[in-house]
Amino acid sequence: MSDTIYSPGVQAYIKKGETMATDLAAHRTKMRQKKFDTIAVHGLYGMEAALSNQGSIIEPAYFSSAQHFENSDHMEASLAYLMPSWTYSRIANPTLGYLEETLALLDGYGFDGEVSACATSSGMAAIFMATNPFLAIDEDTPGQPINIVAGAKCYGGTFMLFGQRYAVERGIEVRWVRNTLDLDEWAGKIDANTRFVFGEMPSNPSLAIFDIEALAELAHGHGIPLIVDSTVATPALMRPLRHGADIVVHSTTKAMTTSGFGIGGAVIARHNIPSRVGPDEMPANFALYVKLFPFRDHGPSISPFNALMTLNDLRTLRSKVSIMSSNALQVAQFLQQNPQVEEVDYPGLHDMPGYDIASRYMWLVDSEDDYGAPVNSFGHLLSFTVKGGAAATRTMFDQLQMVWRATDLGRIKTVATIPAISTHQQQGEEGRALADVPPNLVRLSVGAEHPADIMKDLEQALAAVNQSKLMQAYG
Ligand SMILES: *Cc1c(COP(=O)(O)O)cnc(C)c1O
Repeated sequence: MSDTIYSPGVQAYIKKGETMATDLAAHRTKMRQKKFDTIAVHGLYGMEAALSNQGSIIEPAYFSSAQHFENSDHMEASLAYLMPSWTYSRIANPTLGYLEETLALLDGYGFDGEVSACATSSGMAAIFMATNPFLAIDEDTPGQPINIVAGAKCYGGTFMLFGQRYAVERGIEVRWVRNTLDLDEWAGKIDANTRFVFGEMPSNPSLAIFDIEALAELAHGHGIPLIVDSTVATPALMRPLRHGADIVVHSTTKAMTTSGFGIGGAVIARHNIPSRVGPDEMPANFALYVKLFPFRDHGPSISPFNALMTLNDLRTLRSKVSIMSSNALQVAQFLQQNPQVEEVDYPGLHDMPGYDIASRYMWLVDSEDDYGAPVNSFGHLLSFTVKGGAAATRTMFDQLQMVWRATDLGRIKTVATIPAISTHQQQGEEGRALADVPPNLVRLSVGAEHPADIMKDLEQALAAVNQSKLMQAYG
């Protein structure tokens, strides 16, 4: 690319592109001074952008597959990636651009360095795009085996991607960390052939916790990146880049699109990350590199409609996450008192291992403005085990009258699932033992209904377990 000589016509477009990029950067800098809610509401779509969109005050949905160019010079400059343009919706699209800028600003909130984002068609696409580039052949040691180090308590899809697609199909060694709170376990698994460290915090469904700062330091000591899946926390509660993480992945399907109107994901990375492989552009701006090259070639782009649904839900993310978190804490405390419940996992419960670390990282963003001091807030997700094993768990589950039975979470509506027969079914018994997913585990994503109504439904469903046991005893 660098040795191409461009005609004066193309060069004029490149010059114009530089001005466009400078203006965009200036707007970005201006927005970074604003509060979280302001960023969430406006993103990078301001009056200037509106004037080139017929004055629309809401980001328009661009459903067009492609961009028309003024002439061949404009086309050449754009396709050489030398001026801001979108070209073709598999690569980029203005509506996706608004979403990406907002996501980068939100996860980069309170972080000093530069942050970029790449929106994807799903959370799994984001995890694939964030990890696969690090599995390239190392030109210096082409024959060496490759390994990755990841927390075993993770989303079922991630478990399958790493354990099947990477390990079984491609021969990459996956070193699962069972106790994510134990730094020595992480440290003992990283070596000269490790390409990245991956952790989910808090994890789905077990709500496992790890110390982001300490793990980032450990990874950086080996010259490799820390990738954090912070889907469950969302940037309203936790922004791992501030604590040393290099790349954040999200399933934006979940609490970031609370309405449940679409599947989506995001790769969000700070600039200048460590990496043992890849061209220089890759660590310099990982999210942009992914977007322009591997993402372009693999094709997991999100539909403009879904992008707009997410963008729209993000505007009120903080207030929704705040309500859902406070409801979840009440429900978790209620479940702890219920005689049919064995154990409750929720990062906000004092007796949960990892509570101290969760309290260090999970804060409702800007809560000091509302309450005078920062307030811990632990998210919408909890899980609990039911006394009486798998059968009792199914009895309770089938008795739910308002709480939805679905493999979903992060909804404005409360949703429950039994992970062993749904999200974590395909990884098998051994895989579930590794990830600590027993058959009597129920995952509950607490929504924004009145908490009394949520608890009432759970209470009657749990009471049904007792009744069915009595029936058996007397029948
Ligand atoms: C759901 C989920 C994913 C996968 O996201 P999809 O949008 O369903 O592809 C990844 N990580 C976590 C923690 C999730 O909850």
